[in-house]
Amino acid sequence: MSYSDAPSTPDALAALPLRENLRGLSPYGAPQLDVPVTLNTNENTHPVPDEVVAAIRDSVTQAASSLNRYPDREFTGLRQRLAEYLGYGLTENHVWAANGSNEILQQLLQAFGGPGRTVMSFPPTYSMYPLLAAGTDTSYLSGLRGPGFSLTAESAAAQVAEREPNLVLLCSPNNPTGTALGLDVVEAVYAATESFKGMVIVDEAYAEFALAGTESALSLLPGRPRLVVTRTMSKAFALAGARLGYLAAAPEVSDALRLVRLPYHLSAVTQATAIAALEHYGVLLENVEDIKRQRDRIVEGLKGIGLEPAVSDSNFVFFGGLDDAHATWQALLDRGVLVRDVGIPHHLRVTAGTEAETTAFLDAMADVIGRLDHRSPQPFPTTDRPARS
Ligand code: PMP
Repeated sequence: MSYSDAPSTPDALAALPLRENLRGLSPYGAPQLDVPVTLNTNENTHPVPDEVVAAIRDSVTQAASSLNRYPDREFTGLRQRLAEYLGYGLTENHVWAANGSNEILQQLLQAFGGPGRTVMSFPPTYSMYPLLAAGTDTSYLSGLRGPGFSLTAESAAAQVAEREPNLVLLCSPNNPTGTALGLDVVEAVYAATESFKGMVIVDEAYAEFALAGTESALSLLPGRPRLVVTRTMSKAFALAGARLGYLAAAPEVSDALRLVRLPYHLSAVTQATAIAALEHYGVLLENVEDIKRQRDRIVEGLKGIGLEPAVSDSNFVFFGGLDDAHATWQALLDRGVLVRDVGIPHHLRVTAGTEAETTAFLDAMADVIGRLDHRSPQPFPTTDRPARS
């Protein structure tokens, strides 16, 4: 019997003995379209600087000659460099890494979640959290935010105390809204988990783009053995294609993840790439400053045409005030600019581009708004600092 080359169908999938909690789910699927200006997945839009490309090439060439052997299972050199980069007195024992922070989050759910356990987060937030929960058979609990998608310490702590989740995922700066949480929220949520020993994970994928004065939850780690801060090299380091995420936490958290990780999960090529990039983090982070400038241009530009951008501590801007978000998304795409429709009525999300890409987005946006007069009557997040979400 030979294979048909027809694509699979929903019926064929339904006929497989898939786990019940995966039935009917859609996979993660941000469109990967070939358009001139791609601003939909919060990548770093600035290419890796030549100096860093050369260092990665040398480092990977060296690793290539030993690819007959399994890599360093403990990736000690990489953990040392990540700890040095983070600072806060952290050592390699406080750091763990995996193939993207998505894999870090998955390992945390494998170790601390699972059947009969729960993970709580506060939508709208990173769309992978419910999928990672489903993949590990952990029940997902949706917490509630306040007006303008804000989350106060009192509200978050009260909800966590009531539902007693095994894990809490706090995304800060939050995707898709872009705004960082105050550390008071993290402290209050951690205190609320004390009686039932819940893990508190702060996803700081976008931390390097934060506005001045926004603090990292790394400063809260001492004395909090169930607090975990996750980071990634996909954003500030412009290495989304290399797949390197990491965490900082008490050393015993890494011991827990050693129980669920696959042997040799970080390839020698990945380790060599990440180490070379970390040795040049100063050059890489120079681009972060430009991206922040483009982000601020977007905020100002959108305000200038009557739209309502949220406070952004990240490399993207979430904005409201649209009459029909999907029609606007399509009209931008028709002009060669791909942004993200996150499914929240009247809102879209755009990644800060290079100067030219940002200009192309702002021009296309002004054109679309001018033609369709897309302003909706609802007021939405202002850019005033106190309204953190
Ligand atoms: N956390 C957040 C909030 C994200 O937006 C993303 C990527 N979009 C990730 C984690 C995962 O990134 P990666 O796996 O590339 O590290």
